[in-house]
Amino acid sequence: MDKTNRKPLIAGNWKMNKLASEALGFWSQLRQALKLTPEVEGALCVPFPLIPAMQAARGDCPIRIGAQDVSSHEAGAYTGEVSAAMLADLGVAYGIVGHSERRTYHGETDALVNQKLLALLRADITPILCVGESLEQRDGGQTLDFVESQVRNGLKDVPEAERSRVIVAYEPIWAIGTGRTATAEQAQEVCGHIRAVLGELFGAETARHIRVLYGGSMNGKNAASLLAKPDIDGGLIGGASLKPLEFADIIGAANEG
Ligand code: PEP
Repeated sequence: MDKTNRKPLIAGNWKMNKLASEALGFWSQLRQALKLTPEVEGALCVPFPLIPAMQAARGDCPIRIGAQDVSSHEAGAYTGEVSAAMLADLGVAYGIVGHSERRTYHGETDALVNQKLLALLRADITPILCVGESLEQRDGGQTLDFVESQVRNGLKDVPEAERSRVIVAYEPIWAIGTGRTATAEQAQEVCGHIRAVLGELFGAETARHIRVLYGGSMNGKNAASLLAKPDIDGGLIGGASLKPLEFADIIGAANEG
């Protein structure tokens, strides 16, 4: 599969880690190690309170800031929620929706994840839709069907003009934070299936433009072999994105791919 239509994206997911006071130090170490060419995009999805400090500290670094969640509502009496408009106001470029930790610990359904994705698009923020199976589902041979249903439900009602900008991240739950990475072949099988489903939903031409990422214990050592696969257009990186030198290494692997 020709990847020329798709710029690789390496996106970090800091989860609930770090303080705003650590932002400056992180950026200065990252900037020293970073070799980001215009052929690769980089992002860091950080906790909401860190967004202003990260925006201020990044200076001219081309790595953009993302959020890890968003409200499905536009505004109003939704205590504790953060709207897409608020994120856009802070210059947020990407938003993760449907991360397995939110699906598991907060009971997020495909329908809610879909509403969040549409809210991001309305605010002109690029959504990263996370999908992925549990170990039980993989062992039961349900991986492709399960991931396909998450993709179909998560991308319902996406307006035609916005379709090629959505990003899908395949994150097998058994590989997240476990140090157990999917093999490049396992990851390619599912990412290839996701692209085929995208083709059925939106047409083959649009599917050729949509980036499909892999996430799950990706690091400086295994990134190159995963990123070499024809349907893997980047990575969503948890633990390794907390370490500036390791994150820079993964971006380096994407540069060389
Ligand atoms: C993630 O949480 O999106 C993730 C991929 O985590 P890790 O890289 O730590 O497995």
